[in-house]
Amino acid sequence: MIDIHTHIGKLGLGKPLKVNQLLKFMDRNGIEKSIVLPIENPEETLYYVTTDEVLKACKRHPDRLIPFCNVDPRRGNSSPSTDFYRVIKEYKERGCKGFGEELAGLWVDDLRLQKIYEACGRLKMLIVLHLDGLRNKDDIGLPRLEKMLKKFPRTIFIGHGPHFWAEISSDVKKKDFTGYPKGKVKKGALDRLFSKYSNLYGDLSAGSGYNAITRDSGFGYRFLEEFQDKLLFGTDYLSPGQKCPQIKFLKEAEERRLIKKKTFEKIAFKNAKRLLRI
Ligand SMILES: [Zn+2]
Repeated sequence: MIDIHTHIGKLGLGKPLKVNQLLKFMDRNGIEKSIVLPIENPEETLYYVTTDEVLKACKRHPDRLIPFCNVDPRRGNSSPSTDFYRVIKEYKERGCKGFGEELAGLWVDDLRLQKIYEACGRLKMLIVLHLDGLRNKDDIGLPRLEKMLKKFPRTIFIGHGPHFWAEISSDVKKKDFTGYPKGKVKKGALDRLFSKYSNLYGDLSAGSGYNAITRDSGFGYRFLEEFQDKLLFGTDYLSPGQKCPQIKFLKEAEERRLIKKKTFEKIAFKNAKRLLRI
């Protein structure tokens, strides 16, 4: 498997996740490679884990760990006039394969963020975006994200987080932007956006991804089949001993023939390989 979403280092007051602990977690769960996402936006965690730290760690395990880069869109002049193209290009030249996890406390269509989307598109760097009530804010139905998908067709957006996954169902309420809504799914905005935009993908990591595909079990398996080319396995592993139930869920879905082997393989690693060109 390829895990599209992990972290390392000290992010909160708990024990930091050491690189060898991430590698052991991967070994235990049959994960061959993991994307390691730096955190450089102030809204998410108590500490930063910078792109430089991630690059250094991944360099020691190039066969297992794949670095992404990050830069807060308010750096420089906190203005759309600041161009991050050269910053991201330099990170790419140093080995970063994508951008994220982007967690800025801004509207998802903020002009400063648009400079980053534009640069990622030019540089063929995927971007992992976390949407909730504070970070990459949007309205019900994700109209602002849709505007970005249209405006930056060359940029591959990988959505994640409570608001993104709440939009699996059309009965989203504002309180769901930070929650884990339960119950039957009525086809929502994600269905429409995944069908319409070739540059949108979904990252199944964390409680939000797992909740979305398990809250209504019949629907979840059908959703995995229908969007088998658009979904990526991920855990959001960030602290030692963290539970990641999506690993078992996906493996069991395949073993019990609830999803096709081909579907499992695409979600578990083939889609990531294609997008990352590895
Ligand atoms: Zn994360």
